[in-house]
Amino acid sequence: MKVLKFGGSSVGNAENIEKVVEIIAKTISTDSCAVVLSAMKGTTDALIKLGYAAENGDESFRNELELIAQKHLETADALIDTDARSNIINFINKRIAEIKNICEGVFLLRELSPRTLDRIVCFGEILSTKIVSAKLESLQIENIWKDSRELIHTDSSFGFAAVNFEKTNRQIVEYFQSSNAQLYILPGFIASDPNGASTTLGRGGSDYTGAILAAALEAKVLEIWTDVSGIMTADPRLVRSIKQIERITYREAMELSHFGAKVIYPPTIQPVMAKKIPILVKNTFAPDEPGTRIEAETSGENNIIRGISSIDKISVLSLEGSGMVGIPGFSKRLFDALSKSKINVILITQSSSEHSICVAVEEKFGRLAQRVVDEEFTAEIAVGKIEPLQIENNLSILALVGDNMKNHTGVSGKMFSALGSQGVNIRAIAQGSSERNISAIISSRDVRKAVNTLHEEFFSDDTRQINLFIVGVGTVGKKLLAQLRRQCEFLRKNLRLNVRVVGLANSKKVLFDEDGIDLTNFGLQLSDFGKEFSSPSEAIADLIVEKNLRNSIFVDITANREVVETYPKLLQKAVAVIACNKIAASSEYEKYRKLKDLAREYNANFLFETNVGAGLPVINTLNDLTRSGDEIKRIEAVLSGTLNFVFNNYDGSRSFSTVVRQAQTEGYTEPDPRLDLSGTDVARKILILAREAGFEMEMSDIENKGFLPESCLQGTVEDFYDEMEKHENYFRGLLDAAKNQSLSLKYIASFNDGKASVGLQSIDAAHNFANLSGKDNAVLFYTNRYADLPLVVKGAGAGADVTAAGVFADIIRAARI
Ligand code: ADP
Ligand code: ASP
Ligand code: MG
Repeated sequence: MKVLKFGGSSVGNAENIEKVVEIIAKTISTDSCAVVLSAMKGTTDALIKLGYAAENGDESFRNELELIAQKHLETADALIDTDARSNIINFINKRIAEIKNICEGVFLLRELSPRTLDRIVCFGEILSTKIVSAKLESLQIENIWKDSRELIHTDSSFGFAAVNFEKTNRQIVEYFQSSNAQLYILPGFIASDPNGASTTLGRGGSDYTGAILAAALEAKVLEIWTDVSGIMTADPRLVRSIKQIERITYREAMELSHFGAKVIYPPTIQPVMAKKIPILVKNTFAPDEPGTRIEAETSGENNIIRGISSIDKISVLSLEGSGMVGIPGFSKRLFDALSKSKINVILITQSSSEHSICVAVEEKFGRLAQRVVDEEFTAEIAVGKIEPLQIENNLSILALVGDNMKNHTGVSGKMFSALGSQGVNIRAIAQGSSERNISAIISSRDVRKAVNTLHEEFFSDDTRQINLFIVGVGTVGKKLLAQLRRQCEFLRKNLRLNVRVVGLANSKKVLFDEDGIDLTNFGLQLSDFGKEFSSPSEAIADLIVEKNLRNSIFVDITANREVVETYPKLLQKAVAVIACNKIAASSEYEKYRKLKDLAREYNANFLFETNVGAGLPVINTLNDLTRSGDEIKRIEAVLSGTLNFVFNNYDGSRSFSTVVRQAQTEGYTEPDPRLDLSGTDVARKILILAREAGFEMEMSDIENKGFLPESCLQGTVEDFYDEMEKHENYFRGLLDAAKNQSLSLKYIASFNDGKASVGLQSIDAAHNFANLSGKDNAVLFYTNRYADLPLVVKGAGAGADVTAAGVFADIIRAARI
């Protein structure tokens, strides 16, 4: 004997029922078979709604019932074309009339008892099974329709009745022995109480009916046929890259379903587990797929984590007070009070000081729980021994499940650091003593992100999804987007990073696409479909917080002060900030410090490698030195690709102004070239390096020995060029003076013993910087370890391509942590 249960969507319409019939026909060719069916999809919900509408005096219940009638009549009509059709149509009409009578009574009395509601709800399963039975009959497939209410006996807890197994098992065995047929069709979910009144086994309870029958009949297998190809590693509605679980133990399946995996109703496992009957979860719409096998042991499978599940609409109740410490009986009273009111406790944690107990219940019980617990402890609350019960809503439970967890250390560490890295705040934690489940209570708005993060973390061949939000699509921004487009396949294959740009902003508009913006024509998309904002950077930061996507990275490729204002908010949400923009790291020390502290506190990356030396690994090298215990004593550096380019190319054949203009045209200058020529940009860079080396310094602490005549720094950029032209003799003088002594000009930044300066120097051919050509940068680090010969970082220090590559490297650094 096999027991097959088909869910609501499997019998949701005539086309699906045809598939169910095919599966049944195939099964009975080899085995006798009890088939349990749910109501047609949506019917139970509709019947409940109808009952409440009638109770509230809302006449719409009649229309609603009409819709239910239509759906069933149409389905029967489409399925059955023999003489049997009129019988089933008749049957449906009669049942609909019965429901109508009951509802009219409810409507008149304005009263709907749980008992009456169960009576109404029962019709869903009665109708679906009768239709399928008639369809089979019309195909000459003999079957017996049996009302489960005659077999499954429960108490009178309507809506969620408890089964009397002794009586139920006896009746099932007796009935099946006496009837001895090849095929039975039975409604799931419904049962009866000792008075013969209809009861139900809880929402989703048809699975349980199947299990009760399978256990009583000692079936070969219980097959649960549904609309997915088995139990998945996570809820398919939350995670895209789920995997189907081939085998899973009863206990794991029980934990997963108890903590929200809707695919199987939690009580289902127990009866079949006791008899060691395997459960097979199969897909009605893809019957050839293997599905999931639930059994006692799963040999050969060594995944530490089997699956992840979550339940929403959770309230956490906290009972706290010094009066609880060391006095026995408080928890007993708490749980007694809850259980007397039939409030199911899903999760419990207690602090080791016994100062507080925390329990999670379904949100719908929250208020009742508060009332009954406060009543229970009235006396203690009155004298201040304990606090009134505190209640927190909008929470969810997240559970990581796997039998193998107990054999591996560090699972919870990995779980909580992964969640922490995404800024998911954990309200409470519970780990069962069986170590089969670690659960955490988190805010419901973090569930999607948390489940996805854990899925990526524990199903390791999973590709990590990186969500980029980029502000600034100027020269560097464009290069970065082009590099991302070219590299995405490589990153996916080699680093298992699926990097997509989900948000893009320029100075006017913001474009968002959760599936990833097409990088081939982002410019057009941004102008055509971008939304206009007065502050696009603020809008994009709000979007990042609102969307709450995992592994979100914010990239600032502007030179804009306003964008920097968004960093604190983002870091506080554990969003990585990559700044090509130098303002944050070089403005007031206080602000720089705050950002660094936020990054540390919230475990978020704040990276700005391109602030010094474009793509050269200057800051990373410095950080590596200090983190490994070295100390920076002195830095000598040529940090302006622009100035280096200018002085390397200024040989007297063209005016100084012309050479500067060339540098700007070729993209080696800041948007305002005066920032370079005045030495301000170099001063900012040495300031950043000094700060990263651990020195508390301000811009005003940097001695800037500028070489530009004062008048060049006034007016517009065009005035600047004109003014330089006027001062050509002065520039020529600087050049000639150096040349006369066989020296060359370099703009050098120095940091020594806590003091920093920048300025033009004439150097001889033996100097470390003498051979720096083009737009190259060089940084010499003198440290405890590199005392005599410095550690040198040298290479192209300006240009959109190398800067974009530096930003790219920061992105990958942030993505891989
Ligand atoms: P049925 O009507 O067949 O009983 P249900 O809707 O009760 O079907 O359960 C199947 C649904 O459970 C799937 O469509 C899926 O959306 C949901 N589900 C949640 N978690 C999981 C999981 N871990 N594996 C598979 N399905 C899941
Ligand atoms: N029809 C019932 C429900 O919707 C039982 C089930 O489908 O398992 O809850
Ligand atoms: Mg179900």
